[in-house]
Amino acid sequence: MIRHCWRCAAALPGPPPTTCASCGEVHYANPKPCGDAVVVDGGRVLLLRRAREPDIGAWDVPGGFCEADEHPMHAAERELAEELGVTGHAVAYIGTWMDVYGPPAPDGTLIHTAVSGYLIALDDPDAELAPQAQEATEARWFELQRPPEHLAFARHARPLLAAAAAMVADGRDAGPLPDRTW
Ligand SMILES: [Zn+2]
Repeated sequence: MIRHCWRCAAALPGPPPTTCASCGEVHYANPKPCGDAVVVDGGRVLLLRRAREPDIGAWDVPGGFCEADEHPMHAAERELAEELGVTGHAVAYIGTWMDVYGPPAPDGTLIHTAVSGYLIALDDPDAELAPQAQEATEARWFELQRPPEHLAFARHARPLLAAAAAMVADGRDAGPLPDRTW
């Protein structure tokens, strides 16, 4: 496959990281920031079953890619609403993990991700879950201490859920959080 320069449209000498021989634009291979919503209630965590690739059919933490000027905390809250039809707000930052999104492209390049996870409290704990058809086939509560075996993006999701469980167990499940004034 041939990749092209986004600035001048010339063919690139190879996959990123590389430099366009035509215009000199440097093409980096950076991770994409993402936000994950770890919704915890009474020792349980809310997961969804993925409706699409990658990892279709696997249980997944609600979350996704940041928009251009969007903080990962806000991405986590937005994705929760888009995927499960319920709103919530971040109450604590858990941490950031590296992962990859999907299989390699034909030239071997990977979409690397830097996933920041937040503990999220539902605005209405009794709200009915409404998994959105494009995103999730179902949603279910699992024991936070025992996530399912078939976990999507397990490289980051497993340590993320373990860290969340440790925070809840230690009573560290309230803050600190970044300022919300972006
Ligand atoms: Zn170029």
